[in-house]
Amino acid sequence: TSGADYTIIGIPFDIRTTYRPGTRFGPDGILRAFSTDSVNEAVGIDTSKYVKGVDYGNLDMWNAEKAYLGSIPQEMKAILETGTIPIVLGGDHSITFPELLAYKDVYGPVSIIHFDSHTDTWGSDTDKEHHDHSTPFRRAIEYDCIDPKTSIQVGMRGGLFEESDFGFANNAGLEHIYAVDIHHMGIEKTAELIREKVGNNKVMVTFDIDFVDPAFAPGTGTPVSCGFTSRQALELIRHSLIGLDIVGFDLVEVAPNYDAGGITSILACRIVKEFITCVACKKAGIKEYAKKGMIENV
Ligand code: MN
Ligand code: MN
Repeated sequence: TSGADYTIIGIPFDIRTTYRPGTRFGPDGILRAFSTDSVNEAVGIDTSKYVKGVDYGNLDMWNAEKAYLGSIPQEMKAILETGTIPIVLGGDHSITFPELLAYKDVYGPVSIIHFDSHTDTWGSDTDKEHHDHSTPFRRAIEYDCIDPKTSIQVGMRGGLFEESDFGFANNAGLEHIYAVDIHHMGIEKTAELIREKVGNNKVMVTFDIDFVDPAFAPGTGTPVSCGFTSRQALELIRHSLIGLDIVGFDLVEVAPNYDAGGITSILACRIVKEFITCVACKKAGIKEYAKKGMIENV
């Protein structure tokens, strides 16, 4: 991965999901839907002119239980130390915690931008050694992997519980933006809030596909209605992320066995392409998304 601007890594891990499993097939499902085009017409950039990436393949999950706090953080740290920007394909959302252990080792506590319908800050009723896909960001705060005050969670809706979702996290300074508020204030205003929050800090972006409405992304384990269209999701990524100092991404909770016609994997590929676009814009010195697109620049 040394010399690669970005590295695509599969973590086919789904033993810490709380409802329907199947995200172990996420990385392969997403890559099957991949196309080799490199022009992002909405941003007006041919990413291949600025960045090169490698496909690292899947991390070995033969003994997934041991890998969780063993080979996942170790291997992620070794990858990060080569200077590349990881784009991890999950896997259930519990994998973001061992990823963040690696980021902490390399960069110290980072800021996160967390797109999800859930806060994933549960786990008040368990010890700190317990990890599932509802606990990664509580544990990330407890283990000082992230700076909650310069981090933000975006898209929460439905199934929310006061202490699990907002008690601990809010006390630590981690803010969230409800889906309903995004629907009212719009994508550009939301992006401004996100950018203000993380500022110039090093950022890890974690995107749970259930941020998107199940009408557009049914292939996931814990879908929640009243989410975002594909278009809104992609626009929010462009408006909020381009120009930030992003050190890594993950895209989790894609479960192809619940998908319909592969639409979730197709969207996931487009999200990865937007992530690659962010890496390319960083290298090209583009500081923010030009609102009308820059198709003439391609
Ligand atoms: Mn999640
Ligand atoms: Mn979720």
